[in-house]
Amino acid sequence: MDRDTVLEIEDLRVTFNLREGQVKAVDGVNLHVKKGEVLGVVGESGSGKSLTARAVMNLLPRGAEKPEGRVEFRESADSTINVTTQSRHSRRMRELRGGSIGMIFQEPMTALSPVHTIGRQITTTLRLHRGMDLKSARQRAAELLALVQMPRPEKMLDLYPHQLSGGMRQRTMIAMAISCEPTLLLADEPTTALDVTTEAQILDLIKSLQSQMGMAVIFITHNFGVVAEIADRVAVMYLGGVVETATVDDIFYAPKHPYTRALLNSIPKLAGTGGKRLETIEGMVPDPFSVPPGCVFHPRCPEAISGLCEQKVPAVADFANGQAARCHLCHDPVPA
Ligand code: SF4
Repeated sequence: MDRDTVLEIEDLRVTFNLREGQVKAVDGVNLHVKKGEVLGVVGESGSGKSLTARAVMNLLPRGAEKPEGRVEFRESADSTINVTTQSRHSRRMRELRGGSIGMIFQEPMTALSPVHTIGRQITTTLRLHRGMDLKSARQRAAELLALVQMPRPEKMLDLYPHQLSGGMRQRTMIAMAISCEPTLLLADEPTTALDVTTEAQILDLIKSLQSQMGMAVIFITHNFGVVAEIADRVAVMYLGGVVETATVDDIFYAPKHPYTRALLNSIPKLAGTGGKRLETIEGMVPDPFSVPPGCVFHPRCPEAISGLCEQKVPAVADFANGQAARCHLCHDPVPA
């Protein structure tokens, strides 16, 4: 892994063996994120984007088999750790989570304790990871709340999560996530539950903290509008795999994969559609117990090549500009 890379995921696989059968929820994901870069991971629900983030934290849900593949995180200039080889409860993993890897989730109420004040929760993180005494931790907690633009930060320290609005709870989560100045921030749909005004404020806040602190961010969302706001580079996921990666400009102006194009065409535009109906993607995301053979997108793909796409899994095509897409049409010549 090169020294500018903070996280490298290679051939990650997450499988669930259920009574109804086996589900390969993440199936051969390759991704990387560089220092100070914001990687947007976009896809419909069931695409495996949140499970990929959970695998990075070694916090897969109950029922998941031990992940396969390599998830290598740079702890310092000279040392990296392969998260998949660590035990979920190991001391090293506990130090990483909330230390070098910060996390923000969609619903802060599930991550914040309802029975402790937010001051107590932030100071506990600081004492645990930074070894601060109570007085300095409290002072730093107030500074962090000020940094996330919480009004009257000193007073807020003594409030419980249920006394805060959704936006304030999300700011609290962000304050906790950045308290140990992480190298990597994982943000899993952090603005989905918020109204549009608060969403815009939280996105601005994450962007400004990211540039102040220089941390790498993996921002998971189902919303391409959010990706346009925040990401430098984008990975599009479908049914457990990455189908396209590119810079945010290339994704919007020159998407290579039919699924990316279909997702973009289904976004309402401010200028209207010129009288045309808004496009939708044909069909449904397939049942995870019976994943289609060949290209997994072929039953819904408007550009599928009969006799090829339903039989042969496409290889990834790499382009000179760094863009990559997993589609037969991106190979020249198209395979016979
Ligand atoms: Fe569509 Fe075929 Fe490309 Fe899959 S490989 S996205 S089915 S054209």
